[in-house]
Amino acid sequence: MTKFADLGLDPKVLSAVEDAGYETPTPIQAGAIPPALEGRDVLGIAQTGTGKTASFTLPMITMLAKGRARARMPRSLVLAPTRELAAQVAENFDVYAKNTRLTKALLIGGVSFKEQDALIDKGVDVLIATPGRLLDHFERGKLLLTGVQIMVVDEADRMLDMGFIPDIERIFQLTPFTRQTLFFSATMAPEIERITNTFLHNPVKIEVARAATTGENIAQGVVMFKASRKDRQAKEKREVLRALIDQEGDALTNAIIFCNRKTEVDVVAKSLSKHGYDAAPIHGDLDQSQRTRTLDSFREGKLRFLCASDVAARGLDVPSVSHVFNYDVPSHAEDYVHRIGRTGRAGRSGKALMICVPHDEKYLDAIEALVEKQIPRLENPLKGPAAEKPATPEKPAAPEKPAAPAPRAAAPKPAAPKPAEEKPEPAPRKPAAKGREKPAPRGKGERRRDEPVVGMGDHVPAFLLRSFKPEKEAS
Ligand code: AMP
Repeated sequence: MTKFADLGLDPKVLSAVEDAGYETPTPIQAGAIPPALEGRDVLGIAQTGTGKTASFTLPMITMLAKGRARARMPRSLVLAPTRELAAQVAENFDVYAKNTRLTKALLIGGVSFKEQDALIDKGVDVLIATPGRLLDHFERGKLLLTGVQIMVVDEADRMLDMGFIPDIERIFQLTPFTRQTLFFSATMAPEIERITNTFLHNPVKIEVARAATTGENIAQGVVMFKASRKDRQAKEKREVLRALIDQEGDALTNAIIFCNRKTEVDVVAKSLSKHGYDAAPIHGDLDQSQRTRTLDSFREGKLRFLCASDVAARGLDVPSVSHVFNYDVPSHAEDYVHRIGRTGRAGRSGKALMICVPHDEKYLDAIEALVEKQIPRLENPLKGPAAEKPATPEKPAAPEKPAAPAPRAAAPKPAAPKPAEEKPEPAPRKPAAKGREKPAPRGKGERRRDEPVVGMGDHVPAFLLRSFKPEKEAS
């Protein structure tokens, strides 16, 4: 078995790795570090949880140990798709570079330009950034990329999802042709392949298994859930979620609950809190300080339930999550793999439970095709399908009014293109990019969100015939 000491790393880096408690390199580290140290380009096909951050940080620190940074000309550049991921790389860098005098700057949205400019002006060895923010600094004339010797692109597939590829191409062109490139992606979509063919020079390719697809240590299950009435789906689905949580008892120490939409993340978090569960949301529309606070308390074990969107949670390193709940079936099958990969890390056992409404069955099929197995069907924990409960509305039968803006309608609606999460940064992927984001055909009575409501809409709802008190909050 390869040892860290055999990889050619600087002794100062080795001692930091030892202090971090790592005994043996992970496969991506054993595969990527030696060629990176030789100055080769590396193409790592690996997802988060495989130790890929150290696989580029450790050789970078070793190689940068010689030489000094010049004002406004960083010597290396790490690009990450989200602020959290960039911050996480920066934290890793601090841990592994603690015995060196290398300097770094983190360029992410939500932090003042002034502070970041001051650091860059002094000269930094490592610049860690999200693409949009990096280009903002560049365009303000505060930054030169001609001194970049090593460039890392982390989570390239997520960059593609978020529409960052044009920015990445531009950044590649602003750095010297002679730079070394370390490029990581969980999957190799054709567009990613094109980028690597264009900008990497004879890379060493290292592919590590997708832990989550083969991980026998993650128990999986799905509840096929049909609401008693379409307009009650959201409320009843949240009841199923609570019942699933309760059913896990003490085995559930902490959990990430994934929703497909940011508004849903808010509604679910709010609803759980209202029912006495310790929950908070994280998604791209929340301000940075709130996101950081929420994430820190989740990491420290102070917050039990993190309700998240895919982009916000992607790649976040949260050790030992006992459970993942897919409140919504992800519409991109690969996201299922990423989501459930948040549990069962480093050989620990984990559990991933999902709720599937009839509208989402097609997504479930796609997931099962991808992971090449059937996800076991679980009984609805509410003792028999909620659908069988008599629909005696003691409350109004009006469509629910979640507290968040632009609530998800209870009735199915056309599958909207997946929105980009990081607001200030580029446009979302084009709707038809993968042919799977085309709006679903509209059924009778369904209305597109952007169409005006004429009169009563498509029908006069029964609730108008009753007196009622409107709900204030999601329950
Ligand atoms: P990453 O895939 O970079 O997000 O890393 C996932 C987790 O694995 C992080 O918590 C790292 O601290 C941890 N890690 C990285 N390398 C090793 C290693 N060689 N041995 C044990 N844990 C590691």
